[in-house]
Amino acid sequence: MNDPSATGPTTDHSPATIAVTAGRPTRTQGGPVNPPVVLSSTYVSSGVPGPGELLYTRNGTETWQPFEEALSALEDARLPALVFGSGMAAIAAAVSLVPAGGRLVLPRHSYQMSLALMADLTTRTGLQVETVDIADTDATLAAVRGTDGRPAADLLWIESPTNPMLEIADLPALAAGARAAGALVVVDNTFSTPLGQQPLRMGADVVVHSVTKYLAGHSDVVLGAAVTDNPALRERMATYRTVHGAIAGPWEVWLALRGLRTLALRVERAQDNAAVLAWRLSRHPRVAEVRHPSLPDDPGHVRASRLLRGYGSIIGIRPRGGPAAADAVVDAVRLWLPATSLGGVESSLERRRRFPTESPTVPADLLRLSVGIEDVEDLWADLEQALDTER
Ligand SMILES: *Cc1c(COP(=O)(O)O)cnc(C)c1O
Repeated sequence: MNDPSATGPTTDHSPATIAVTAGRPTRTQGGPVNPPVVLSSTYVSSGVPGPGELLYTRNGTETWQPFEEALSALEDARLPALVFGSGMAAIAAAVSLVPAGGRLVLPRHSYQMSLALMADLTTRTGLQVETVDIADTDATLAAVRGTDGRPAADLLWIESPTNPMLEIADLPALAAGARAAGALVVVDNTFSTPLGQQPLRMGADVVVHSVTKYLAGHSDVVLGAAVTDNPALRERMATYRTVHGAIAGPWEVWLALRGLRTLALRVERAQDNAAVLAWRLSRHPRVAEVRHPSLPDDPGHVRASRLLRGYGSIIGIRPRGGPAAADAVVDAVRLWLPATSLGGVESSLERRRRFPTESPTVPADLLRLSVGIEDVEDLWADLEQALDTER
């Protein structure tokens, strides 16, 4: 059978192919090759709605389904993904799996808004939060198991690589240890993308994404998603989405699916560019430190080589001269965009500590570079002139 809409382990195609084929309408003579956008807030319905029957768009719409199928196939999941109005909405849904007053362990260098959400939940609902160095497997699992009178954690939150410090977690070991301790394991897979790692296949219970970044890939959509193979967890997150109204608009989901078609090309090109730039930056006299897992002496190199396909396209650099010198580089670039966010086709950079909410353990002079798909020599020439600008 040649059903291009087949998802999950039923297809033996590679991820680069799945990104192109998954979620297409069933082949029919004269039928469209792309799914339509349906703009309707309500559906014709009377009597008791049947299971899965479309009723009202906050509960579900056919415009979400192709994207949800495609992301599920890329994560090698068996159940469709759940699309949300933003990455943070998906993250909030996943965190809602922690019972009231429960305990959550997460990386100290998690995405700063994830840390802000946990802090808010601590204040309002008594969520107990402990932050860890996620690259330190023993310390993380000790925090999950709960020693020294701490209760065991209900949920281990993982980002790998972390944003913006690019620490690499030993995901299989952490997932196995946390599950043995009775904790759920959620992985924010935004940085890696499903092409880099498939956390459900490494023992995670739930994967969340900021679709805004690589999956949509063009900096024109804010969107999120959660994926799980556990029907009960999926049902709870679907209910969360409905009752909190954390839903995605149909155009955004359609744009994200369109962006997803080129995921492999974009990610491969951006990663190749990043590896070249990281190496050259590491030899540049005006750069004190470079973080990129492709570099042989990077703290995450060995683990990333074992666990990830590709080293990603985010680079951390610390220009010599402190935060002012870092700001001067941001001001001097002409091709690179001074902007937050990441994972678009265009290269951008920012000094993360310009945000007062960024973790104080992130160096004040750290620039986070999101490498795009432009010609690498153009990117290098612009970075070089910015670094060499007299100051
Ligand atoms: C951007 C980002 C988020 C938040 O996603 P939004 O779509 O902006 O809500 C979560 N996690 C990581 C790692 C991110 O980079």
